[in-house]
Amino acid sequence: MTVVTRFAPSPTGRLHVGNIRTALHNWLLAQKHGGRFLLRIDDTDAERSREEYVEAIRADLAWLGLHPEREERQSARFAIYEAAFERLVAAGRLYRCYETAQELDLKRKILLGRGLPPIYDRAGLALTEADHAARAAAGEKPHWRFLLDHDTPITWNDGIRGPQQFDPRQMSDPVVRRADGSWLYMLPSAIDDIEMGVTDVLRGEDHVSNTATQVQMFLALGATSPRFAHEALLTGSEGKLSKRLGSLGVADLREAGIEPEALVALLARLGTSDPVDPALTAQELAASFNLAHFGRAPARFDEAELQRVNAGVVHRLPFARVAALLPQGMGEAAWEAIRPNLAHIGEAADWWRVIQGPIAAPAFDEDTRAFLAEAAAVAATLDWTNDPWPALTGALKDSTGRKGKALFLPLRQALTGMDHGPDMKALLPLIAQDEAVRRLS
Ligand code: GLU
Repeated sequence: MTVVTRFAPSPTGRLHVGNIRTALHNWLLAQKHGGRFLLRIDDTDAERSREEYVEAIRADLAWLGLHPEREERQSARFAIYEAAFERLVAAGRLYRCYETAQELDLKRKILLGRGLPPIYDRAGLALTEADHAARAAAGEKPHWRFLLDHDTPITWNDGIRGPQQFDPRQMSDPVVRRADGSWLYMLPSAIDDIEMGVTDVLRGEDHVSNTATQVQMFLALGATSPRFAHEALLTGSEGKLSKRLGSLGVADLREAGIEPEALVALLARLGTSDPVDPALTAQELAASFNLAHFGRAPARFDEAELQRVNAGVVHRLPFARVAALLPQGMGEAAWEAIRPNLAHIGEAADWWRVIQGPIAAPAFDEDTRAFLAEAAAVAATLDWTNDPWPALTGALKDSTGRKGKALFLPLRQALTGMDHGPDMKALLPLIAQDEAVRRLS
C-alpha cells in the first residue's frame, strides 16, 4: 500500500517552527516510502481563516522544498461532509444538543465539585422528537455531538508512543457541528483522511485525545483507522514552550540568514536519537527517517544550534545554489575561497568588498613597513595565475628569515585589512595583482 501522509494546517496564522517540523516529518515519511505527501488546508473556520495565510503556508513549504503532490481545502468539501453527516445521523451516531456554553460550564463545575470527571451527561440524547420540535418552534437550533461507543475500547499502536488505550466512558461525546451549521475540525478531518487515502497521520502529541475520538469516527464511517504517530512537542532551549517559539516562523529565520537546508537538517532529527548532520541532503534524511528513533521527551529547539547547522550547510553549498544571491561579478572561485568563513550567505558581500577593495589598511610599525615594501616588490614580479601566495611567502621566507605568524600576519593584515579570514592561498589570486601590490606598498 502506498504511503500517503498529509500536513493539515489551519490557515489562521503563519506557520511556526513546531508546525514546520510536523510538515517536514510528514514529507520525509512519504519520501522514505516513495509515497505521497498532501497539503490539506483546514479552513472550515471561515471567520478565522485568511487567504493570506494560505498563501504564506504554500510559500513557506516551497521555500523548504516540501512540495505537496496535491492541495485540498476543507472549505471546498462541505458537500462531502454533509453526505457523511447524514449517514451518521441515520445510523444514530450524531445527536442534537442545546446547552449553552454557560450551561455546560455549570455542569462541569458541579461534577468537578463532587470530585467526578467532567464528562458530558448526554442530556441531548434523552430528548424526544417532541422536545426537538418544541425547541425548533422556540427558534432554538441544535449543535451536534458524536456518540462514542462505550462498549468498544479505544486502542491503537502509536508509531512513537507505543500501545495506547482509552476508555470511551471516560470521554465526553465531542461536539462536531455548531448550531450555525459550521464544522469543528474533528469529523471533517476523519472524513478527509478516509477519502484521501491517508495511511499515516503524524502530528503533535497535543492531538492524542483527538485521535482517541477519531478512532471511533473512522469505525463509525466504516473505515479502518490510518496508522497514528504523535510526536513530542518542541520546546525552547530553556525547556519551556516559549512564546518566541510559538511565533518563530520562516520569515524570521530567513531574515536571520538561515537557509532552508539548515532548518530541514535540524528539524528532521530534532527529538530523535539520530545526530543532526548538516552534510545530509533531504533525500538522505528521508532515507534514514524512522519513527522508532523518536523519543517521548520534548524536543529542544535551540537557535544557537540552528546557527551552527546553518554554518555547516553554507560551507557546503555549491556555487550554482548561491550564484543569484552573491554580489554582481563574484564567481565560483571566490565563493569557494570564502565559503568556509561564512555563517550566512549574506556575509559573502563583506568578503567580496575585501577582494575588490579599497580596504582600510592598519597602521604598521617601521620594521613591518620595510617587510611589506619588500613583499610588494616580490608580488609585482610574480605570475599571478600560478598560485601567487606560496610563491610570495616562499620568497619572503628565504629573503627575510621570517616565518610563522611574523611572516603571514602582516601580509594578511596588509592585503585584507583583517587579522582573520579565508585561506590566503585561495584568496590572494582573487585580488588583482596591481591592487595587491598597492595594498602591500
Ligand atoms: N488543522 C489541524 C491542526 O492544525 C490538523 C491536525 C491534524 O489532523 O493533523 O491542528
